[in-house]
Amino acid sequence: MLKIAKLGNPILRKIAAPVDPREIKSREMQRLIDDMFETMYDEPGIGLAAPQVFRSIQLVVMGCKGEDGFPETVLINPSIVYYGPDQVENWEGCLSVDGLRGKVTRPSLVRVNALDRKGKPLDFEATGLFAVCIQHELDHLIGKLFLDRMTDLSTLTQLEEFQQYWQKQPASVV
Ligand code: ZN
Repeated sequence: MLKIAKLGNPILRKIAAPVDPREIKSREMQRLIDDMFETMYDEPGIGLAAPQVFRSIQLVVMGCKGEDGFPETVLINPSIVYYGPDQVENWEGCLSVDGLRGKVTRPSLVRVNALDRKGKPLDFEATGLFAVCIQHELDHLIGKLFLDRMTDLSTLTQLEEFQQYWQKQPASVV
């Protein structure tokens, strides 16, 4: 299991370096991807970015089973090439920010370009929870946290109070 960098750790505020595509298939990179999935599921979370495990590189893993879920996804050197016109508000949490939830408004649709764990180019659109997770994770690659994206800090809520007063739908902990 990998150790998770917590709020205040400078690595969470750094711009992550691109991955050399020739290194994607290396044993070390494949091992890191596997370890990140294992750590994410263990926490549990639905997404994890490499800077959260002290690697300042452009790599994220995501996955969420269930009705609102999305498939296991690895994004390397990702970029969002299109944002849909509609905005949607969701509760978010973060494995690097213990015990807090907050409402964040983001575009409801994104189109993403990236490489997968085999180095193959990806080009796809995402909506719903998947789109939220992608935007949250890609923010980690530019040193941003969901707290920076909150426009109304009055929704910032501790976990117990979130569960007591606000949890109608599960928060995305990424
Ligand atoms: Zn996060």
